[in-house]
Amino acid sequence: MAIEEPVFISGKEYRIERIRGFSAYATAKLHDGTITIKIPIYISGERAAKVFQSLKRRMVRSLERAKEYEPKPEYLNFYDGQVLQIMGRVFAIKTVESANQNSQARFKDGTITIRLASGLAVKERERHTYVLSSRTIVKNILPDVTARANQLNESHFHFGLGRIRLKEQSSRWGSYSKRTNIINLNFRLLFAPPEVFDSVIIHELAHIKHQNHSKRFWKLVLGAMPDYKERRKWLRKNGNLLGVFQKPDPVPQNEALSATAIQEGEQMLQVADIVNAQEPKQQNQGGARQGI
Ligand SMILES: [Zn+2]
Repeated sequence: MAIEEPVFISGKEYRIERIRGFSAYATAKLHDGTITIKIPIYISGERAAKVFQSLKRRMVRSLERAKEYEPKPEYLNFYDGQVLQIMGRVFAIKTVESANQNSQARFKDGTITIRLASGLAVKERERHTYVLSSRTIVKNILPDVTARANQLNESHFHFGLGRIRLKEQSSRWGSYSKRTNIINLNFRLLFAPPEVFDSVIIHELAHIKHQNHSKRFWKLVLGAMPDYKERRKWLRKNGNLLGVFQKPDPVPQNEALSATAIQEGEQMLQVADIVNAQEPKQQNQGGARQGI
């Protein structure tokens, strides 16, 4: 066995091993971050080197392609003034300053109000805004997601459905654990079109019966959702942009004030900021609280 130079794909290192074998074909396999390329002993010299290079190139290309389809690992950027529409519900995000040591979120009438702890650096403010917003959204939308999964299960499978969890996970859209009977769904799917979200739910529901991707598994999936492949194609193409939001550029203060009359649309953010800064503490009753 020979250890070759490793390759890096999207920042991840893959070791490469070259082995000789009595097989009929040259093969490349990936296991545990190691790419093993096996060359039959009847191929030697320059030809063996060529076969090795060609298999290595193909493996790298397919890994790169797979990486493109993965959800983006960096956290989403929620910001003050943002209005999210999720499963037919509205979540408006509002951040306000506070003198507290902890940041807290409260949800009431469709608005997530985040009182940011005092003295936070910009990055920390962003992180607190994100973490508290996403937790609040998950808590409030989970019953809807669970109901949707139940509905799909009842229409197609009638399996014993356990718990559904929405999770921030970077590498998978969904997963199923037979041991716990829990289906994990990627939080970012909340921002996908409903038919795409459904396709991931159907996939994971089918895993309750088959914990593999066998022919029988796919037959089950396609039987329930004949256009499954088209829906997943959308996810492969657009998935890594789901839930990635661009905060609009701020309008400079003096321009903002003088442009009130002509640029009403752009003014909205500024007005929201002023309202936030002056907001009295009247929203203290009711609503769920989240702290960080
Ligand atoms: Zn699967």
